[in-house]
Amino acid sequence: MFVDGALQPARHHITVYDRWTGESIGSVPRDGAAEVSAAVSALAAARGAMTPQQRSAVLSRAAALLESRAEEFSALITAESGVCRKETLREVSRAAGNLKVAAAEAERIRGESIPLPDGTRLAVTLPEPVGVVLGITPFNRPLNQVVVKAAPALAAGCPLLLKPSEKTPLTALAFAELLIEAGCAKDMLGVVTGEPGELGPLLASHPDVAMVTFTGSVATGHSVAALAAGKRQLLELGGNDPLFVLPDADLPHAARLAAGGACATAGQSCRGIKRIFVWEEVADEFTDLLSTEVAGKQAGDPRRSDTDLGPLISEEAALVVERRIADAVRDGARLVTGGERDGALVHPAVLDRVPADTELVREETFGPVAPVIRVRGADEAVRLSNSTAYGLQAGVLTRDSARFWDLAARLRVGAVNLGEGPHFDSPHIPFGGVKASGIGREGIRYAIAEMTVTKTVTLPGP
Ligand code: NAD
Repeated sequence: MFVDGALQPARHHITVYDRWTGESIGSVPRDGAAEVSAAVSALAAARGAMTPQQRSAVLSRAAALLESRAEEFSALITAESGVCRKETLREVSRAAGNLKVAAAEAERIRGESIPLPDGTRLAVTLPEPVGVVLGITPFNRPLNQVVVKAAPALAAGCPLLLKPSEKTPLTALAFAELLIEAGCAKDMLGVVTGEPGELGPLLASHPDVAMVTFTGSVATGHSVAALAAGKRQLLELGGNDPLFVLPDADLPHAARLAAGGACATAGQSCRGIKRIFVWEEVADEFTDLLSTEVAGKQAGDPRRSDTDLGPLISEEAALVVERRIADAVRDGARLVTGGERDGALVHPAVLDRVPADTELVREETFGPVAPVIRVRGADEAVRLSNSTAYGLQAGVLTRDSARFWDLAARLRVGAVNLGEGPHFDSPHIPFGGVKASGIGREGIRYAIAEMTVTKTVTLPGP
């Protein structure tokens, strides 16, 4: 475990491998009950409460350090996740952006005064840190997923215990070291690593953990939520995000956006484009443009600067994608381009005339697939879009604002972007889902609000 500002000696370890070469690139402790107990106790007893100004300074320094080590972090993320260098460099820059916004927000946390209408008393609300926050993060974007937990927790003044994915733990540990170097109080930060089946129940149900912020799959999220009953919870779960291409859309732009959103992180992104609803009258032209865009993406060695997509996180994950593509074709879809598998590498695929009930689009498919679902109009598009369990984000491409607002009102999702894909992202805005996609909101300011509790003080009126 990482406590008291450093990685502690461990008896058991888990080896971490490079996703492309298969070589060992390091190891992390395999923590168990004793480490969980020690780490949570250390955080629960934290005396390192810094002033908002000090917290802001730590976050700013962390952003600067990260920017100065962008190459190093990008190479580490690429090695342990297989995500290509182009994208991991962007990920480092996004993470630094989140830290900068958190640095600003740390100085803006404030309550309100409420004079009672009868003039007898004045109430003042004081936002206080919720207590020890447990952050459980997924394998995709191993740095930024950690930063969107750590930055608001530090800004809010909460001690943070991180439990990164066992598939990508090295980046989380490297970032923890960076935070300490940036001046984070040593007793405000801990990291435990190991087998999630062993650690998860111990962590999520620990009485000294006040809040669980979890990002990952729906099934795991729900089991963690059940263990954490009674605690504050923020759940960012799976997505099956749609892009809507209306007949008046700029089709070349739509094709570029769709290809980018379907292939980002080799399709392993909760808010990646997973379904493309295209109005029948433009579907032929759009699909041609889309397949040209997707076929132009370079899949292969993620360490090369010209690679657009690396391998998936494992060969098992790639086998699922391969099978779902084959099943969709069996159910009536046409494979236009790509879809070949080579170990964990899946060449990006475009499928046309995909039936809305085939598993490829009914479930969240974590791979580089751009499935076109042809629709006859808004009613059918909305009905099909809302028919899955998920509800994260959506993108709408049209020049007609009335048609946009009609879709925006009827889609059951956490965000709708006009002229952008569902993957649009900014640290300044709320992010989160409805239905099975989650509970609560990230986005720095909103995550800080989730990590604070309101204490109300009332005084005799002035
Ligand atoms: P996962 O659910 O397998 O794992 C997520 C985290 O939970 C990991 O740290 C894992 O070690 C841990 N975990 C696993 N079993 C556990 C248990 N029994 N108790 C406690 N923790 C446990 O997810 P993944 O495969 O790492 O990530 C992919 C999923 O994450 C996809 O469904 C994706 O959509 C989702 N995701 C969502 C968002 C979002 O913001 N909504 C962002 C990224 C990823």
